[in-house]
Amino acid sequence: MRRISIFGSTGSIGQNTIDLIARAPQDYDVVALTGGHNIAQLAADAKLVNADIAVTAFDNHLDELRAALAGTDIKVAAGQAAISEAAARPADWVMSAIVGAAGLAPGLAALEQGATLALANKESLVCAGALVLETAARHGGRLLPVDSEHSAVFQALTGEDIQSVERVIITASGGAFRDWPIEALKSATLAEASSHPNWDMGQRITIDSASMFNKALELIETKEYFGVTPEQIEVIVHPESLVHALVGYDDGGIMAHLGPPDMRHAIGYALHWPERRKLPVARLDLAQIANLTFKAPDDARYPALRLARAVMQRGGLSGAIFNAAKERSLDAFIAGQIGFLDMATIVESVLERFEAQPGLIDAAITLDNVTQTDHLAREWADLEMKIRAG
Ligand code: NDP
Repeated sequence: MRRISIFGSTGSIGQNTIDLIARAPQDYDVVALTGGHNIAQLAADAKLVNADIAVTAFDNHLDELRAALAGTDIKVAAGQAAISEAAARPADWVMSAIVGAAGLAPGLAALEQGATLALANKESLVCAGALVLETAARHGGRLLPVDSEHSAVFQALTGEDIQSVERVIITASGGAFRDWPIEALKSATLAEASSHPNWDMGQRITIDSASMFNKALELIETKEYFGVTPEQIEVIVHPESLVHALVGYDDGGIMAHLGPPDMRHAIGYALHWPERRKLPVARLDLAQIANLTFKAPDDARYPALRLARAVMQRGGLSGAIFNAAKERSLDAFIAGQIGFLDMATIVESVLERFEAQPGLIDAAITLDNVTQTDHLAREWADLEMKIRAG
């Protein structure tokens, strides 16, 4: 039996992971499940998969979680430290599916105990790519990509030499607003930004898809995970979301990865790797699909891509700054405090503020420095918003 843990089990990726695990309960010994506010789901899943421990990120939910699991022998805990402690429990395979920078510390704790970390939490690589890779290498842990584009690149690289890779192309659906006139984006509402044309995902990543901040994070994730240069990475808009990524080789050949827009493919691939097993995802009927379309992304529509390219060039802690400022401006957009286009403007201003203090950006990439920089970037994002509000 494989010992597995799922961090962010109540979210979209977490639920898809539970779906796969629950189909073959005899294969898995579930160590830990963690969630945030959705205590009913966390408790129900902990019972379903008979987890050893269920942890909520928030102390104020502990009593509710304890009550929901009363009468079982499932342990309960609360708080960010308890999540990292749960990640340090021995497990063979750990799903990292907490949303945001909060996923970094538990991912590192899982790698430190030598687990295979299935990484949906792209923010870990964006904020601290070098630290994550170095931690995996030092403790014999393995990192497997779960983001569909990165899983696709990983699969298209199988059996190939990374030295013969000319370019890596990741696709983008274009999000909710790909066909909107640019002038209309200014007044885009939360409800409009929260609906994705192809994928069923958590609200935050769905809005990030509309703004392309999600693809911006993925550009950085690609550079960090595969060790390619920024110049080798391309983004192409592909509205059908069936080709997830392509890898171009020195001889002109391109390996493309296609599949339905169902995250259970990438999750299942990481779960069973290096084997391929049957997965409950739809099979593509190419004759019925008939056409696949591609177009270059419009930089004026998606300033987040330009910012990500600047971050990749700058290096250091600029990824942590970029992500924190993005998370804070996303909070503000969700709360109705700023407009859709303000998110990119605020992130750019925060990056510029840090640029004036190179000592901060170039500090060593340690968990402490990432955490401090993350907090400061959020404060400066708040300051920018105050200045704008007059
Ligand atoms: P969701 O918002 O659906 O789920 C997030 C999970 O994290 C939930 O379990 C949530 O708990 C928990 N959580 C929220 N805040 C905290 C916190 N501060 N500390 C600890 N746990 C917290 O997100 P997704 O599943 O959509 O995305 C998860 C990660 O996977 C993200 O990094 C995303 O970019 C990435 N990803 C997602 C894809 C998708 O298809 N959804 C595709 C590729 C990558 P609760 O809900 O109980 O409050």
